[in-house]
Amino acid sequence: MGIVRTSGSGEHHVVVVGGGFGGLQAVSKLRRAPVEVTLVDRRNFHLFQPLTYQVATGALSPGEIAYPLRAIFKRDRNVGVLLAEVADFDLDARELHLRPVSPVPAPERLGYDTLIVAGGSHYAYFGHEEWRMHAAEVKSLESALAVRSRLLAAFEAAEAEPAAAAREAWLTFVVVGGGATGVEMAGQIAELARDTLRRDFRTIDPRRARILLVEAADRVLTSFPPSLSAKAERSLQRLGVSVLTGRTVIGIDAAGVTLDGRDGGAEHIASRAVVWAAGVTASGLAGRLADLTGAERDNAGRVTVEADLTLPGHPEVFAIGDMVRVRNAGGEPVVLPGVAPVAMQQGRHAARVVRARLRGSQHAAFRYRDKGNLATIGRAAAVADIKGVRLGGFLAWAAWLLVHLWYLIGFQNRLLVLIRWSFSFVTHGRGARLITGASTNSEQR
Ligand SMILES: Cc1cc2nc3c(=O)[nH]c(=O)nc-3n(C[C@H](O)[C@H](O)[C@H](O)COP(=O)(O)OP(=O)(O)OC[C@H]3O[C@@H](n4cnc5c(N)ncnc54)[C@H](O)[C@@H]3O)c2cc1C
Repeated sequence: MGIVRTSGSGEHHVVVVGGGFGGLQAVSKLRRAPVEVTLVDRRNFHLFQPLTYQVATGALSPGEIAYPLRAIFKRDRNVGVLLAEVADFDLDARELHLRPVSPVPAPERLGYDTLIVAGGSHYAYFGHEEWRMHAAEVKSLESALAVRSRLLAAFEAAEAEPAAAAREAWLTFVVVGGGATGVEMAGQIAELARDTLRRDFRTIDPRRARILLVEAADRVLTSFPPSLSAKAERSLQRLGVSVLTGRTVIGIDAAGVTLDGRDGGAEHIASRAVVWAAGVTASGLAGRLADLTGAERDNAGRVTVEADLTLPGHPEVFAIGDMVRVRNAGGEPVVLPGVAPVAMQQGRHAARVVRARLRGSQHAAFRYRDKGNLATIGRAAAVADIKGVRLGGFLAWAAWLLVHLWYLIGFQNRLLVLIRWSFSFVTHGRGARLITGASTNSEQR
C-alpha cells in the first residue's frame, strides 16, 4: 500500500498518533468538528494504565481495563482508526511513515493537515537495559500479564522447593521505585500473600513472604507532601512491606537485587521476583520530532513544545502528554507531572486549537489545572492531596475508587470493575490468579 491522504471527503484531515489518555481526548473533542480524523495506534485498544498493576496482581482481568478503540468511536462517522506503528515523520511533505503491525497491512505513508502526537512514555532502566529481563514492569498489558505470571509462579516454585534458602528467594519480592505505582504494587503483593493466598498452599505459608520496596529518595511518594508519604509508609508497614528508602539499586540479575550498602559496600538480596516501577523515558517519537524541528529535549527524552503545544516552526504539529514538556508564558520549559490528567487536558487543548483555527479565531496558551494527587496502598488505605486538602485512610481510598471508576472507559468496564472490587473487598479474593504464557514440553511438541 502506498500513500493514503484522506478518505477523499475533502475535509481538513487531523491525524492523531496514540490512543492513550492524550490522544483519546483529542479525538473525542474533534468528533463533531468539520474535520476528518484518523487515530493511529499500534494497539487496537485504549489501556487504562493506572490499573495495570491490579492485572499484575490478579485483582482485575485485562479486558476490564482495556477498551477497543474502534468501539469507542463506532458512532462517530468522521473518525477512523488505523492499526499501525508510526516509524517516522516527513514534516515537509506532511506525512507519517507507517510500519504494519503483523499480520495487518498498513499504508506506507499517511498524509495529514494537522498532526497530534501522543506517543506516551516507557520505563527506563537507568542505562541498564540488561536489568529489564529480570525486573519486569507493568506499563503495558503484556508486561502486566508477565508480572502476574512471575509473581504467582514464585509462590508455586516456593511450594515445590525443598531447599530453605532457595525457597526464601522465591518468597522474597522486591519492588524498585517508591512512586505511586511502586507503592500500589508493593501493597497489592502484600495483600496477595497475606490475604488471598493464605490458605492455598500446603508446604509454604505465603504470609511469611518478604516484600521489599526500594526507593532512592528519602521517602516514598515524593510528589505528595511529606506527611502523606509518612502515612503511606506506615500503611505499607502495617501490610508487612519493608520500605527501604535512601537505597539505590546497583545491580539486578536472575539471583536477585544488589543495593548500595549504608557502609559504602553492597548488599545482595536474593529474590526471584523483582518488579520495576522506577524512572520513565519519553516515547522515541519525541526524540524524532526534536531532531526534525530543532526543539529542545530533556534528559528524560521529552521534546519541548511551545505554549500552544505545537512544535517550533510547525504550527500544524502538536505533541502532548508524557512525551513533552511545555514552555510557559515566560518561555521557560516546564515539566508537568507524568499523569493522565495532564495528557487529557493537553489532548482537549490541542483539539480546541484546531477547532479555533478552522473558525479563523485564536486560542489561549495551554494551562494545566492540577486537580490533585491520589495513590492507594491497599484495602481501605490510600492517600490523597486534593487542592491542599490532605486525606488518608478510608476517605482517600473512597475518593481513589470513585475517580478511577469515573475515568475508566466504557460503562460495561466500570460496572465489571465495581462488581469485582466489591466482591474482592468482602471475600479478600482475586479472581484472575492465572499463570499464562508458560507451556509444558508436551504442549510444545
Ligand atoms: C503502571 C502505571 C500506573 C499509572 N498510574 C497513574 C495514576 O494512578 N494516575 C494518573 O493520573 N496517571 C497514572 N499513570 C500515568 C498515566 O498513565 C500517563 O501519564 C498517561 O497514560 C499518559 O498519556 P499519554 O497519552 O501521553 O500516553 P499513553 O496513555 O501511554 O498512550 C500512548 C499511546 O501511544 C501508542 N503509541 C506509542 N508509540 C506509538 C507508535 N510509534 N505508533 C503508534 N502508536 C504508538 C501506544 O500504544 C499508546 O496507546 C500511570 C502509568 C503507569 C505506567
